[in-house]
Amino acid sequence: MKKIVFVTGTRADFSKLKSLMLKVEQSSNFELFVFVTGMHLSQKFGSTATEIDKYGFKNIFKYINFDKYFQMDKALASMIDGFSKYICEIEPDLIVVHGDRIEPLAAAITGSLNNILVAHIEGGELSGTIDDSLRHSISKLAHIHLVNDEKAKKRLMQLGEDEKSIFIIGSPDLEILNSNKVSLEQAKEYYEISFENYAIAMLHPVTTELNTLKEQSENFVLALKESGRNYIVIYPNNDLGFEFILESYKSLEGMKNFRVFSSLRFEYFIALLKNADFIIGNSSCILKEAIYLNIPGILVGSRQQGRVGSEDCIKVDSKKEEILEVISKVHKMDFKNVNTPQILNSSQMFFTHLLSGKFFEINKQKVFQDI
Ligand code: UDP
Repeated sequence: MKKIVFVTGTRADFSKLKSLMLKVEQSSNFELFVFVTGMHLSQKFGSTATEIDKYGFKNIFKYINFDKYFQMDKALASMIDGFSKYICEIEPDLIVVHGDRIEPLAAAITGSLNNILVAHIEGGELSGTIDDSLRHSISKLAHIHLVNDEKAKKRLMQLGEDEKSIFIIGSPDLEILNSNKVSLEQAKEYYEISFENYAIAMLHPVTTELNTLKEQSENFVLALKESGRNYIVIYPNNDLGFEFILESYKSLEGMKNFRVFSSLRFEYFIALLKNADFIIGNSSCILKEAIYLNIPGILVGSRQQGRVGSEDCIKVDSKKEEILEVISKVHKMDFKNVNTPQILNSSQMFFTHLLSGKFFEINKQKVFQDI
């Protein structure tokens, strides 16, 4: 049985990896190992590891890679140290990582330096910030690329990756949306949300804009308050500068039209999103799940600049008056996305490739491909 390690550091990557993990866990050809780290293990960010526990995976290993300041370079170093020891023990045949954060980067460094195959999901995307550098670095270290679409494939080829190592499988979180079994009533009851109508707000720090982050967060919160609408607000990730956002959210305490959460369970989050008037902020969810569900998205600031799907959203600078103006104009019925995703069976596509043995034939000695 080949051993496959999945690395998950946030709610964001888990929602994309879990359908693939389940395929591996249910197969008699492979043995699944789950390395849980990062925000999942932080109380401050909702201890989302408990969500992973609910799936009952046999081999889960939890590793805390951060200290109380969540310094990103130190967390990267700590993750390399912990993951290196882990793979010495497990001796996996394949490591699967997702996205653009320091945990997958650390795992890709560790895997490639130990001559273990690394598969990277959602390489070749653009996210418009330091995340781009992390994502492309992970792609340069990974041997196998599982991408969303032709555009992403082309970008990876621009980076010198071999076409034969790139497989288009779509975005694995979208297939779960159709089978979501949690109803709106259940989600509202679970999180004690009494609003009839509401929007969802999710703002993450842009690390390269640290000097204006305080102002950006304050503008965002002021605009939400002045709009007079009801909001479900969800905490940012732990990237550099997250404290500015959390500080601004303190002013929402006790306000009747705001419910603030560190993180919502994925299925409950989706049930609430489906019924939202709109979603505002800079989460990738605005470009993915919201578009797919035809929920209007307001993208604030630069975090998702140039990313697929951003053309379907209303874009606005981090200025209070501008944000207020777009909020006043946004109406659910006006919105119809133009970019409907084509692939909705990503986990099966991944598993078919895995089972075919193709991944294991890929040469670990990478050769830069000129174009
Ligand atoms: N998500 C979730 N619960 C939440 C917020 C988000 O399950 O309370 C999931 C959802 O699938 C979303 C994904 O996490 O698409 C990524 O969201 P986030 O904004 O945290 O991260 P990003 O991808 O923008 O870095």
